[in-house]
Amino acid sequence: MKPMGPIPAWFASEEGMLLIGGCGAASLIDEAGDTPLFVYDMGIVEAQVRRFRDAMPKAVDLHYAIKANPYAPLLTRMAGQVDGFDIASGGELAMALEAGMAPDRISFAGPGKRDDELEAAIFAGVTLNLESEGEGRRALAIADRIGKTPRLAVRVNPDFDLKGSGMRMGGGAKPFGVDADRAAALARAVIAGGADWRGWHIFAGSQNLDAMAIIETQAATMALAARLSDEVGASPPLVNLGGGFGLAYFPGDEPLDIRPIGVALGTALEERADILRDSRFALELGRWLVGEAGVYLTRVIDVKISQGETFVVVDGGLHHQLAASGNFGTVVRRNYPIAVANRFGALPADPVTVVGCLCTPLDRLGDRVALPQVQEGDLVAVFLAGAYGASASPAAFLGHPSPRQLLLG
Ligand SMILES: *Cc1c(COP(=O)(O)O)cnc(C)c1O
Repeated sequence: MKPMGPIPAWFASEEGMLLIGGCGAASLIDEAGDTPLFVYDMGIVEAQVRRFRDAMPKAVDLHYAIKANPYAPLLTRMAGQVDGFDIASGGELAMALEAGMAPDRISFAGPGKRDDELEAAIFAGVTLNLESEGEGRRALAIADRIGKTPRLAVRVNPDFDLKGSGMRMGGGAKPFGVDADRAAALARAVIAGGADWRGWHIFAGSQNLDAMAIIETQAATMALAARLSDEVGASPPLVNLGGGFGLAYFPGDEPLDIRPIGVALGTALEERADILRDSRFALELGRWLVGEAGVYLTRVIDVKISQGETFVVVDGGLHHQLAASGNFGTVVRRNYPIAVANRFGALPADPVTVVGCLCTPLDRLGDRVALPQVQEGDLVAVFLAGAYGASASPAAFLGHPSPRQLLLG
């Protein structure tokens, strides 16, 4: 048997049926029409937002990195919950505007922005987080051509990284942002070019469960923002301090307690350099806001035995939930939390391997996990499915249908 990650504590059952947002998993499937199905509970998302507001200083805005889950009904609700959206493509720009987020609360990062994406963003009045000097030149030229003042911030590749992150995005040679020693020059150039300079975007890492590491990185980020602003000789309207709040996906993971981060950030803000006195600050979070709110529901098609090992074959798989198969940013495959939704809480029988319906050995949702006795027609739930699921998986691979999605609450 191999261990699995922790099922979030609030999930309960009624007569053995997993409840999501107070509704039984089987009736949610009836409502949506069929499996495979992603269910997102807005109540859980709103509770995370409240947790953030309670823990963080008032001067810190909450931005949602919409790539974590851009499901339209969820985005529309998120627009009313957070202070800004962070986007990373022209397609996400359209989704963010459609969801009703005000353009001056949207910022657009990401390498390789095409001219048509830059133009759409400048035309809409969205802030561009510049990833290079070349992008800055193109943005200024496009703004000039369409007669708009562009809102430009500079994304900095910091000279440090967030220790222990699942995905490192700063420190060393990176395709993201401009190296710290050239960032001030780029900010001066865009100011001289007539842009509305919006400040700094400094993102050092993702999926981190170590509050001390996050605190240290935020302190280093504040110091870097102050030093760069001094070099520019101007106060940044906004300092985006990055994010990195992680979730407990795997065995042994301890949930991140954000309260000490809020306390330390409060102190750092009180003691901030004069040049940052009138700046606003933001944290940009994706998975931490929405990941635990999602459950991926599949149905068991077949139960078979090979050389003594039991395989439970479900009608979903890595084409919808790549991360749970261990093929999205993890080095070693570990088990996401998983359960039989219609026997929730029943005693485990012999370990089984849960595989998806794709004809590839990569399609494994649970490796020798302890589940109750499973039969054809049972429902298998994969938890922590609210982020980087439906939108971050190779849905076209092998020609299976797209998953259904349902927002509750
Ligand atoms: C992906 C990304 C995020 C969100 O990361 P999470 O781990 O989902 O919180 C935030 N900012 C930037 C720049 C990103 O690329």
